[in-house]
Amino acid sequence: MDPLIIYNTLTRRKEPFKPLHAPHVGMYVCGPTVYGDAHLGHARPAITFDLLFRYLKHLGYKVRYVRNITDVGHLEHDADEGEDKIAKKARLEQLEPMEVVQYYTLRYHHAMEALNVLPPSIEPHASGHIIEQIELVKQILANGYAYESQGSVYFDVEKYNKDHRYGILSGRNIEDMLKTTRELDGTEEKRNPIDFALWKCAQPEHIMRWPSPWSNGFPGWHCECTAMGRKYLGNHFDIHGGGMDLIFPHHECEIAQAIASQGDEMVHYWMHNNMITINGQKMGKSLGNFITLDQFFTGDHASLTQAYAPMTIRFFILQAHYRSTVDFSNEALQAAEKGLARLMEAYSHLKKIQPAATSSVEVKGLREKCYEAMNDDLNSPIVISHLFDAARSINAVKDGKATLSAADLQELKDTFQLFLFEILGMKDEAAAGGNSYEAFGKAVDLLLAIRQQAKANKDWATSDKIRNELTALGFKIKDTKEGAEWTLG
Ligand code: ZN
Repeated sequence: MDPLIIYNTLTRRKEPFKPLHAPHVGMYVCGPTVYGDAHLGHARPAITFDLLFRYLKHLGYKVRYVRNITDVGHLEHDADEGEDKIAKKARLEQLEPMEVVQYYTLRYHHAMEALNVLPPSIEPHASGHIIEQIELVKQILANGYAYESQGSVYFDVEKYNKDHRYGILSGRNIEDMLKTTRELDGTEEKRNPIDFALWKCAQPEHIMRWPSPWSNGFPGWHCECTAMGRKYLGNHFDIHGGGMDLIFPHHECEIAQAIASQGDEMVHYWMHNNMITINGQKMGKSLGNFITLDQFFTGDHASLTQAYAPMTIRFFILQAHYRSTVDFSNEALQAAEKGLARLMEAYSHLKKIQPAATSSVEVKGLREKCYEAMNDDLNSPIVISHLFDAARSINAVKDGKATLSAADLQELKDTFQLFLFEILGMKDEAAAGGNSYEAFGKAVDLLLAIRQQAKANKDWATSDKIRNELTALGFKIKDTKEGAEWTLG
């Protein structure tokens, strides 16, 4: 089989994936800043790197997947200024900042579970790693790439750029950056407007603060991922991912911090998913097209004509390559809903088809073609198109226009199971709901049959216990000549 090829944002090339310490793979993905409900912008990186996580595990790697929770230091303007996003929400809602963090972290987990996104191996909080971040700042200061100014510590971009190259990931150069940032300069503390904060001295009203050698304050946003990536994955690890919007400044600054502290780059492959637009527009609160995942699931938003199941959202995202943009619209989501239903129906037909002596449709190449697509930088839309081709063959067999041998039937079942469910991570929501309801009903029937048996044996204690306990749970039991009937509620 061909090796897995992935696109490395750092080298701007597709490269064969060679882990530093196979079979172990270290993977770090920037997680959410937990001050609001998860939206599509959270779903895409979560699903993209879930696909990679699932596929690497399928290939036999032992993956340590770290996805952080940002709960400190992410300021309003995503730069070094403004109020901390969590602290602001806490102030507006009169809550403790950690109440905000807990509330939105739980809601994020709930949304991710609905999308069938596997939990990461470690989910560290930035606020739980202040010591590691202070250590990082100390190292950068000791190496001469940072300076202290009025209790804050800034990264000296110009100094760093003399020895290394700032802008290596984003392709920006420092002269251009200087031209565009000079006018925006607001702080007197920095030597240079393009310098970024490693540690910020807290203003008196700032509630999230920790002691440090420089001041009572808090770490700069970029520090957490460098410090936590290093702590859990080592000084050199395989993959660092996130949305394309994080390339600059966040990931650019992470690279600078790693090199300035340990002398070389930590990350082997940088991977970035492209962005999501809604009806061709950038998503934003001011544009009125800011739709949370819960609103998609319930249909409760003026722009939505219906509710969309989590699997429709997941399938829609996977129908585009992760490096392409995705544009959400009701029409596009409805098309995804129908497409997914076609695949699920084809899979359920597979269970009912009677095998013939020979096959009149080609099955052999399907699995290889799906692997080929996945190995080509996780080309999920091509995998899906191969599954659609297979669905057409399955429908032809169902309609009596083609035949499948027992071996080919099994091969199709296995390939659907592997690619549609295990790797693409789809689940049959209708069947899951249907099966659990059916199973629930059968379990109650079983209890009543046991009660019937107990009555026949004059075991009144057991018979009464079952009746009383079911009644207490809200069941209405009615004894008839044929046995007991039940209703709920
Ligand atoms: Zn990050």
